[in-house]
Amino acid sequence: MTDDGAPAAVTAYIGLGANLGDAGATLRQALRELAASKGITACEASPFYRSAPVDAGGPDFVNAVARLRTTLAPLALLDLLQALERRHGRERPYRNAPRTLDLDLLLYGDVTMDEPRLTLPHPRMHERAFVLRPLLDLAPALTLPQGRATDLLAAIDDQPIQRIAP
Ligand code: ATP
Ligand code: CA
Ligand code: CA
Repeated sequence: MTDDGAPAAVTAYIGLGANLGDAGATLRQALRELAASKGITACEASPFYRSAPVDAGGPDFVNAVARLRTTLAPLALLDLLQALERRHGRERPYRNAPRTLDLDLLLYGDVTMDEPRLTLPHPRMHERAFVLRPLLDLAPALTLPQGRATDLLAAIDDQPIQRIAP
């Protein structure tokens, strides 16, 4: 709580991905919806990137990262992300299936937690160029539990990722 009784805002990072339908349009729409959601007071988006699916078939992904300021608690923010995914027709027929929209909660302040519904920081983000590249655009000096994000990205320069916009 702050002095005026309002819940304090926290900085959170969201990973966005889509590889079904008009993925770029879906990401732009999801970013607008996030920015307009109750409990989200600021929303900045990274550039968009194209990446090949990892451990799965299907079309290339469009990926981005958003930095939010939010007064929502971690699980309430996850609820919001999953509601947005459902609104965009997300289905989970099998692991790593192509998806209309995937919203991962990457970081929530410096909170760490390990529960089935929510692990923070996101447990696989440090090994994914499609997360680290846009994350570094927003936060060039970021450090994760595994090391500096810039060093982690340099270690996986074999993962092709292409900036598409802007
Ligand atoms: P990955 O997590 O490897 O990126 P995915 O995004 O395809 O895989 P999903 O099917 O979207 O996986 O999510 C599976 C479950 O992961 C969700 O039901 C959710 O509760 C849980 N989960 C745990 N930690 C997180 C997190 N940090 N962000 C989003 N979901 C999480
Ligand atoms: Ca994911
Ligand atoms: Ca997910």
